[in-house]
Amino acid sequence: MPIVSSDGTVKSDIDRKGRILIVEGSPLYTNLIKVAVKNVFSGPVDTAANFDDVKRLTVEHCGEYFLALLNLALPGAAFGEAVSYVRSLNIPSIVFTGSIETEVVERIRAYGVIDYIFKENIANLELVSRTVRRLDHNRRTNVLLTDDSSLSRAIICPHLEKHMFNVTQAEDGVEALELLKGPNDFQLLIVDYVMPRMNGFELVKEVRSFKNSRELAIVGMSAKTDGSLAANFIRFGADDFVNKPINPEIFTTRIAMCMDKKDMLNELMLRATTDYLTKLWNRRHFMNTAKVLYSSAEREQIRITIVMIDLDLFKAVNDTYGHEAGDEVLRKVSASLKTRTRESDVLARIGGEEFCLLAINVEPKSQESFLNDILETISSITFNFDGKEVSISASMGVTTELGTSLDDMMIRADNALYKAKEQGRARFVLAE
Ligand SMILES: [Mg+2]
Repeated sequence: MPIVSSDGTVKSDIDRKGRILIVEGSPLYTNLIKVAVKNVFSGPVDTAANFDDVKRLTVEHCGEYFLALLNLALPGAAFGEAVSYVRSLNIPSIVFTGSIETEVVERIRAYGVIDYIFKENIANLELVSRTVRRLDHNRRTNVLLTDDSSLSRAIICPHLEKHMFNVTQAEDGVEALELLKGPNDFQLLIVDYVMPRMNGFELVKEVRSFKNSRELAIVGMSAKTDGSLAANFIRFGADDFVNKPINPEIFTTRIAMCMDKKDMLNELMLRATTDYLTKLWNRRHFMNTAKVLYSSAEREQIRITIVMIDLDLFKAVNDTYGHEAGDEVLRKVSASLKTRTRESDVLARIGGEEFCLLAINVEPKSQESFLNDILETISSITFNFDGKEVSISASMGVTTELGTSLDDMMIRADNALYKAKEQGRARFVLAE
């Protein structure tokens, strides 16, 4: 079901609305802004130097702009005519201004723009990048606004939608909890404190038992002025707190900070657990996960298979065709291996050209075909280096015996791998 915002835009239609329009008279500023936008946005970026360009481009790409960045004053349109025109087309806008005098700012706000950026400061190009990245991100972000006061929701919702969030409303904790427990893609929960049936604290406490800060950011709010409310919201697991009635600018800035924090946590987690080149799990994540699986295998009679995979003569690829070629081999082999593994398997790059697969409950009778399948998957990839067709094989050491510890299993698989190399490579050897 498409999410329709209060201005009638279908929010799921984001791919069609994939352009950004820059409206700026100075070629120097145009280029600087364009660089700042291109740093964070991969879609098409159009530039208009005057009002005629604006009219032409908005006809040519009618309905395609999700954002316009405009100078308030243009040659031949010195009084914000372009801003007014772009806003009349319902294109969300950020305005650059050379003056932040109250009268000018009031005039900019009257156009219903998302925000304005003071132009004088060249360092604000960093702010341009951050703003564009955030808005592009917001239009893919689903927010659950939970407040028992429909008036309060009616005040807050448009501020979120102005910043391109997709907003769903819930009128109390019970309704919000139901939505969050069902299939959903909420990344931000904004929650009032005083609500019937289930208050804000109870909701936050409950939600944090199954969703962490990396999955869902939570902002508490209340009209109560009790000083310990904010601290308690955060103790129960919220990321921030705002007072009601909200100050729109402070509110949206705090929300942006919360979402930035969530993104950074995810980025950190990704970097700590995955291999940058192949996007497979790294050694550390593999060992942590494998330890958990190993102990449950011991308790619950689950069969685990450890497969050490080492690419044959990989050094020769690097030496003959260069490191770029070597990297491509690692990436393609990883991608192919990934398509052959099941959801429950753990596949990691644990060294230069060495991979480790932990597979759950591979039936003894299908084990041989399972292992041959992996060898086949790798050897059937063809590479084209320096006009030559090149392929690569792998050797594997395998163990299914739990033994005394996970390390013990890893050592036995490693020894079997060594034997596979000794026996002429491109094969698997089962540990004794
Ligand atoms: Mg309330």
